[in-house]
Amino acid sequence: MSIQEHIAEIRSRIDAAARETGRTGADIVLVGASKMNDAEACQEAITAGIDALGENRVQEMTGKLAQDAYRGAPLHFIGHLQRNKVKQVVGKVSLIQSAGSVELLREIEKAAAKLDIVQDVLLEVNIGGEEAKSGFAPEAVRDAAVLAKELQHVRVQGLMTIPPVAAEDHGNLAYFQKVYALYVDINREIYDNKLKYISMGMSGDFEDAIRAGSNMVRVGTAIFGQRYYAK
Ligand SMILES: *Cc1c(COP(=O)(O)O)cnc(C)c1O
Repeated sequence: MSIQEHIAEIRSRIDAAARETGRTGADIVLVGASKMNDAEACQEAITAGIDALGENRVQEMTGKLAQDAYRGAPLHFIGHLQRNKVKQVVGKVSLIQSAGSVELLREIEKAAAKLDIVQDVLLEVNIGGEEAKSGFAPEAVRDAAVLAKELQHVRVQGLMTIPPVAAEDHGNLAYFQKVYALYVDINREIYDNKLKYISMGMSGDFEDAIRAGSNMVRVGTAIFGQRYYAK
């Protein structure tokens, strides 16, 4: 199947899951996770109507930006962002989904202030409490949201999470429900219900994420096919 056919199929599955929660596919943002895929594949996804593309490596993104790979769609940064690479990302993407520490938020603020822009971000939640993953601990997200609100050049638009690799079917549903509950609380108590996005769900679990309340899914393999990492 082509990228276009994959996207059509995913859209219909998104729509079905959204309808279980009284929404439709139009309420869900489909972000294509395009890492390891070339500019041509990115353009194919954009032509097929993907809502946004997401990259998770700064160097790869910079190279593909130079090739105009993302022309015609918003670009998100979705991967682990090192503080020393913030300058290469701020202002280049419409949304940084992976703001996962106070230090990173401050670095984004500094870079955005220099450009005199406001950078949209999501606060990443490390819902599984995994050592190897970045993101705020669930009990730290609220304080981070309060702090971020004081930053003049950073605008929090919601939350993002990458749960642990699930050992069984529907293994991530409970994590998604927890992050959704956090989102609802923080949205109401700190952001006056102005937050827009709760980004959760990937190729293997986007339907459960939507059932739990997600309105933004990041899908790679199911759109672009298997990624082959160089040894
Ligand atoms: C690669 C990636 C995805 C997509 O993963 P798939 O399982 O291929 O759909 C989603 N989110 C992030 C942060 C990623 O790096």
